[in-house]
Amino acid sequence: MYAEVIVDIAHSDVDKIFDYACGEEISAGMRVAVPFGRGVTTGFVMRTKEKTDVPTEKLKSVLRADETPALTEEALQLADRIALRYRVPMALVLRLFLPAEMRTGKVSEKTHTVYVLGDDYTPAPRAQKQWQILSFLKENGETAGTVLKEMFGAAALKALEAAGAVKAEARRIFRDPYRGIGKLQPPKILTPAQRAALDAIEGTEKTVTLLHGVTGSGKTEIYLDLIADRLAKGQTAIFLVPEISLTPQMLSQLRARFGERAAILHSGLSAGERFDEWERLRVGGARIAIGARSAVFAPVSDVGIIVIDEEHDGSYSSESAPRYNTFDIAYLRARYHKCKLVLGSATPSVETYRRAKDGEFALVELPDRINARPMPKVCIADMRREVRRGNATAFSSMLREKLASCLAEGNQAILFLNRRGFAQTAICRDCGYVAKCKNCDVALTYHSDENRLKCHYCEARYKMPSACPECGGHRFGYVGMGTQRIVHDLQKLYPSARILRMDVDTTRGKEGHLRILKQFSEHNADILVGTQMVAKGHDFPSVTLVGILDADMGLHIPDYRSGERTFQLVTQVAGRSGRAQAPGEVVLQTYSPENYILRFAASYDYAGFYAHEIAMREAMMFPPFSKIVRVLATGDDEKETLAALKETFEELQKIYVKAPEKFLFFNKMHAPIKRIRNKFRYQVLMRLKDPSVLKEIYAAVAAVKQRDVLVYIEENPESLS
Ligand code: ADP
Ligand code: ZN
Repeated sequence: MYAEVIVDIAHSDVDKIFDYACGEEISAGMRVAVPFGRGVTTGFVMRTKEKTDVPTEKLKSVLRADETPALTEEALQLADRIALRYRVPMALVLRLFLPAEMRTGKVSEKTHTVYVLGDDYTPAPRAQKQWQILSFLKENGETAGTVLKEMFGAAALKALEAAGAVKAEARRIFRDPYRGIGKLQPPKILTPAQRAALDAIEGTEKTVTLLHGVTGSGKTEIYLDLIADRLAKGQTAIFLVPEISLTPQMLSQLRARFGERAAILHSGLSAGERFDEWERLRVGGARIAIGARSAVFAPVSDVGIIVIDEEHDGSYSSESAPRYNTFDIAYLRARYHKCKLVLGSATPSVETYRRAKDGEFALVELPDRINARPMPKVCIADMRREVRRGNATAFSSMLREKLASCLAEGNQAILFLNRRGFAQTAICRDCGYVAKCKNCDVALTYHSDENRLKCHYCEARYKMPSACPECGGHRFGYVGMGTQRIVHDLQKLYPSARILRMDVDTTRGKEGHLRILKQFSEHNADILVGTQMVAKGHDFPSVTLVGILDADMGLHIPDYRSGERTFQLVTQVAGRSGRAQAPGEVVLQTYSPENYILRFAASYDYAGFYAHEIAMREAMMFPPFSKIVRVLATGDDEKETLAALKETFEELQKIYVKAPEKFLFFNKMHAPIKRIRNKFRYQVLMRLKDPSVLKEIYAAVAAVKQRDVLVYIEENPESLS
């Protein structure tokens, strides 16, 4: 027999099948050790066959193999499609399906010793402990050595073992990172609205359902019931959430419902724990894979349902090669298993909502919170007026008043700062005017090195005005303060308030943000100041006030999705307020109070937002009416990077010249951030009217010889920096 093997070396030169001779025990999906070049390397068996074209004298043999396949038939099929779609070496694709720990071989299986009865043997009449051990084993079957030693002492056990009366055997055990958390609890009874939504999901013939439910509408409970139903049928489930949502709260809720049948894969686990959770899914007792993006590759078979919660979240696009899209993989798996794929969100992405509206996905809506709890009231604070009144702080008078009474009542507040966008956007502090590109209708970015405003989509450059072109005012520049400054100012205003700060700087380390969240949820702080991290999923019952300090900032980042992102963020942050009995409030501070995105967000009007946004996208020909494709070249050496990009550009140009009508934009340029971590960055940016040319683009890029420069493709990238 012969095995077709992919060697675990991610290089295009060896990205092909190598044949090896093998025995009958080898099957597809197995991890094997094979002679390669002058050494031995790890590989994976893609297929086995009876014949080979490799001449006998050249043929080498498989040296070793695991006992069971690491990759299922489904994984191999899926890998084929991914490699073809994204044009990446198969070795790189296969790695998606395996925990890194398995490849590096740094983690070993954990075992413990158990004792079983051995040969017949009669202990001396006075060896009471020995008699006890034997009768214990007769009654209870195999028992852990640690237990026997504790009950009867090590000496008696040793004597029995020496006589052959008992035998020691190694048994595999799985590290369980969540032992003891979440006591098993009965499920909640669904409300009529939840039941109707569940029935609608079960009732549709379509593979994909979008569950669009406001924050606090009880979507999670619906997912859990769907999953429970599939488990009862003997199937498995995959439940995906953004990494940041994998809070202890969420995990204990899942363990409470599913106990050890749930395996949880996330970056906070130790290597050994992650490996064991993966193994529990593959061969052990776990039947639900819960995790962030990469859990979409979980080694479960007979999948009965896949859920992607917070489907709009940017973390579902991977940022390292291969740059897969989680939805695409989930969809392929759902089709393979003929099961449902449920996408859930309070603020679905415009693209997803459009597909649901168009009838490609089923659309199920939950417009109200559980038990008719009201949505928190959103008050808009006009920061232009504050500036005019001489208030130069980051806090409007409205926010200060509400904060004071919130603290006086012993409640908690969250202040949210959208720091992501603030640095480079030019805005007028008097009238709220934001410099935008004439061609693209996206905010311009200020480049201090040239003292110019630039459009990241079409390369147009503009002079940096000294006064506001709209109102002539001289307060034209940047606004925005860091979280640190906010905390400092806040402490001065409320000296006795206990304030926590949560941002990338305060959450370093494995448990960084969990520590802060715990402190806040135990009410050991009154105000939580933070960036995006505070927006998602948290359920703090005592929070009755949310302040959004600079709602504009995200609105003007140079990205066609900035409106959509702002709508999502404002809705998500607002959703943290008033989740329990006490009603919640939100203060939204802005320099553009008439902005439609903020208006729709303040009134929780997703439909209004969507109608406006989709019309704008169509008029401007942005996705989903086009596709933005970026080919990025990054490398240590500037000349080489540029050369690689030029070569790629020339290949791509052939496609462009053949059918320019399929393109809305096509050019090569510096990436907006010219160097990241000492790597130079050049790009070809394209906006495709007709995405059918994508295949050719992938092929062209794959054909470019990769030197020490990495050239890769991004589709509708999360960020164009
Ligand atoms: P969403 O995921 O839609 O934001 P959650 O699933 O977090 O909403 O539910 C919001 C709150 O309502 C949670 O505290 C949850 O425990 C509670 N809840 C959900 N379903 C029910 C139900 N059927 N009966 C009682 N409480 C429920
Ligand atoms: Zn432009």
